[in-house]
Amino acid sequence: MVPGASESHELQRTIDALHSRYKPLTDGDVASYIPELTKANPEHFGICIATAEGAVFETGDCDRAFTIQSISKPFTFGMAIEAYGAETVAKYVGVEPSGDVFNSIELMSGSNRPHNPMINAGAITVSALLHARYGDEAFDLILERFSTAAGRRLTIDADVFESERRTGHRNRAIAHLLLNFGLVHDAAERALDVYFKQCSILVTCRDLAMMGATLANMGKHPITGAQAYEIPSVRSMLSIMFTCGMYDYSGEWAYRVGVPAKSGVAGGVIAVVNRQLGIATYSPRLDKHGNSARGIEVCVELASRFGLHAFDCLNVGSGFLQVIL
Ligand code: GLN
Repeated sequence: MVPGASESHELQRTIDALHSRYKPLTDGDVASYIPELTKANPEHFGICIATAEGAVFETGDCDRAFTIQSISKPFTFGMAIEAYGAETVAKYVGVEPSGDVFNSIELMSGSNRPHNPMINAGAITVSALLHARYGDEAFDLILERFSTAAGRRLTIDADVFESERRTGHRNRAIAHLLLNFGLVHDAAERALDVYFKQCSILVTCRDLAMMGATLANMGKHPITGAQAYEIPSVRSMLSIMFTCGMYDYSGEWAYRVGVPAKSGVAGGVIAVVNRQLGIATYSPRLDKHGNSARGIEVCVELASRFGLHAFDCLNVGSGFLQVIL
């Protein structure tokens, strides 16, 4: 727990209780297809909630650094939208759930675009767009933007980067398929390096909760006040997280939890309650979809306990009638 929170606060008591309840859950396995990730301690488990006003509640392993992996995807998507405009980005990558695994080698029939920017094909396309625009500075700009969203200077795990770069044949195949369809520029290998590097950015559970709170707070970091993303990009980022953030579990997630979210294979999950909260969990054992097994359970319970679901009756939604009547 940190300043702004109090031990007696209901959120603190709830996350403490959820931590105790799900600590014994050992379902799933640590990701092994990136060799370096097998070194993760499967017992690590953290839950952190940051409010859009900047109060932070945390329990368990919230200071352990792990790689952001696919949780980088909505954040680079937001950057691409700001660099090119949503219409241009849409020519390269769709916004449809794929219903398929995250590293599927498949494009949309007809347009030959990746289904969405939350699966690897779409995220690699987005990284290539950033590389095409910013050249070799692209990664530094990504790191800077993620740092602004987190509210502290982030770094990368060079070992995880090298490990994935050496063994990421499937992503390399995807990048070359994209190149075949003219969706990435001819520096596909350099764009892939940007993608592997963005996945290797080190974060803690608390960083992810703060990044979530930044999105909840319309792109502005709740404590530093820095504007990490423009307001319209946040809407696009959250929409795509809502429909596609949990891979081929996205429909079930929208049904059961009902908030925008994104998972990563290192075991992180980020969820955003619009205008209210950033929620993050860290636990490296993954279920068959590649989502953190404990993370899913914690989020399901938090949503049901506090009525966080977008369509929960407690959630009053847009106030447009009060404004226009
Ligand atoms: N770097 C990983 C990959 O490209 C990210 C995947 C993930 O977190 N789901 O396979």
